[in-house]
Amino acid sequence: MSKLYVISGSSGVGKGTVIKELLKKYPDFKLSVSCTTRAKRDGEIEGVNYYYLSEEEFKRLAAAGEFLEWAEFSGNLYGTKKSFVEECLNKGNNLILEIDTKGALNVKRMMPEAVLIFIAPPSLEELEARLRGRHTETEDAIQRRLASIKLEMENSKQFDYVVVNDTVDRALFSLENCMFS
Ligand code: 5GP
Repeated sequence: MSKLYVISGSSGVGKGTVIKELLKKYPDFKLSVSCTTRAKRDGEIEGVNYYYLSEEEFKRLAAAGEFLEWAEFSGNLYGTKKSFVEECLNKGNNLILEIDTKGALNVKRMMPEAVLIFIAPPSLEELEARLRGRHTETEDAIQRRLASIKLEMENSKQFDYVVVNDTVDRALFSLENCMFS
């Protein structure tokens, strides 16, 4: 039977890389494509990375009950279409949602059989050092990011599994253990 996995993790923990490796190894797994109101980044493709919607269109879909869950993140709206999830599971595909922790907990309320996995940094100190090492953000932005990471880690206490991402290989191994145990 097809399964629904929800993977969350703070930005900067390398969750995208671990998921990419997982999908390479298990090509029958599908990654959900969410809707968002944020601007398309360079290199992103409509329908591959996201469906890019205006705020008006997003809110219309939300009011019509088309989202399994949706949440505001960093001033933008993100949501998972119910129809996308249903179609995928009905076709017999295992599906991964890569969404924030608030959204993940909402999915669990609607679909208790969903497996929630949080990808955590080896330590907050290390993540802070990594963020500072990039030299791309102001102190204010770093502080805001750290606050949101702490909130995500608090939410992760309600998850089924926590995988520590110290190296990609070890994180992938733990992720497989959670998914197939
Ligand atoms: P980004 O803008 O960097 O692509 O994503 C920002 C955050 O939004 C990430 O934590 C990502 O997991 C989350 N996100 C992406 N799609 C969804 C969604 O459909 N629902 C929710 N709740 N969060 C999402």
